[in-house]
Amino acid sequence: MILGIESSCDESALALFSSKRGIVGEWVKSQITKHIEYGGVVPDIAVREHLSNFFVLLDAAEKGERLRDSVTRIAVTCGPGLAGCLAVGLSLAKTLGLLWDVPVIGVNHLRGHAFSPFLPLYQEQEDIFADHLPHLSLLVSGGNTILFRIDDGQSIEILAETVDDAAGEALDKGGKLLGIPYPGGPILEQHAIGGDPRAFDFPRSFSARSEMRFSFSGLKTSLLYTLEKLTDEQIRARYADLCASYQSAAIDQLVTKTKHALESSEFSSLGLSGGVANNKTLRCRLAELASDQNIRFLAPNLCHTGDNAAMIAFAAHIDRECVAEDSAALTFQPSLRLT
Ligand code: AMP
Ligand code: MG
Repeated sequence: MILGIESSCDESALALFSSKRGIVGEWVKSQITKHIEYGGVVPDIAVREHLSNFFVLLDAAEKGERLRDSVTRIAVTCGPGLAGCLAVGLSLAKTLGLLWDVPVIGVNHLRGHAFSPFLPLYQEQEDIFADHLPHLSLLVSGGNTILFRIDDGQSIEILAETVDDAAGEALDKGGKLLGIPYPGGPILEQHAIGGDPRAFDFPRSFSARSEMRFSFSGLKTSLLYTLEKLTDEQIRARYADLCASYQSAAIDQLVTKTKHALESSEFSSLGLSGGVANNKTLRCRLAELASDQNIRFLAPNLCHTGDNAAMIAFAAHIDRECVAEDSAALTFQPSLRLT
């Protein structure tokens, strides 16, 4: 049984993963309401929230079963993320490790996301990688936009990354320009329903097949210029069209690049992960791409798209890179990369 601990940003989360039964328990406390008025995550507030949240979460987890009797390993996010936030999770993990005399494993949060599309398969079949590698995957969150492949042996190779804003960041910044509170992505999606995605012509950067990179900062600037040319009344009247066109430009770029990668090599499955994987349009369009290629589309359940401890505990179990280290030497790495 692995206890997963996630504290890299504004989500305080614990999860219990059983090698026989998969995820058997989760305890989460989102801090989103504490940061809304500042328009983004405030590191100091996040650290303070983690400090109080984890005691409540641990208490709740203990009510199910005595963790000390069942937990054999502890998996904790060691990076990337906010330094102070990571330190809270790591010190909790190390303390519990000492107390319960179990090894502590540092997990790369991005590898947690990368393997999260395989989590729903775990209950379904024993060897989750059989028939699914090589795997092409898109990780889209508030801080990352990465297209990568996972090959036999679970080696990960990055195929394309953003040169500026992440996709989620672009949706949040666009949302802000449209008067939507942080994080704008999910609310923008709601406003886009019923709007015409072709009403406004926003740019799709690097659309050439040979350009293996993403860019979203031009999209945000283009929205700014468009809004400047419209009166408040026009913006109100065409609000759904603006939201739909903006979201569609961001999603088109993600889908086009993924399609090019799918067509350039043989893959056995296509994955999607990260907070933006919540978006219905993006999920549907990638599922369609996979279906066109006759390969399986894999995505985590909606509760495991954003930051969560389930993917951290799961990665500690299946990712060959995750090995228990000397617990005393284990430290946080705010700028850790996927590879
Ligand atoms: P993460 O960084 O993984 O915690 O994910 C947070 C990011 O996902 C933020 O940028 C959100 O705006 C974005 N996000 C969450 N839900 C949706 C959605 N339904 N549509 C688009 N973006 C979303
Ligand atoms: Mg994340």
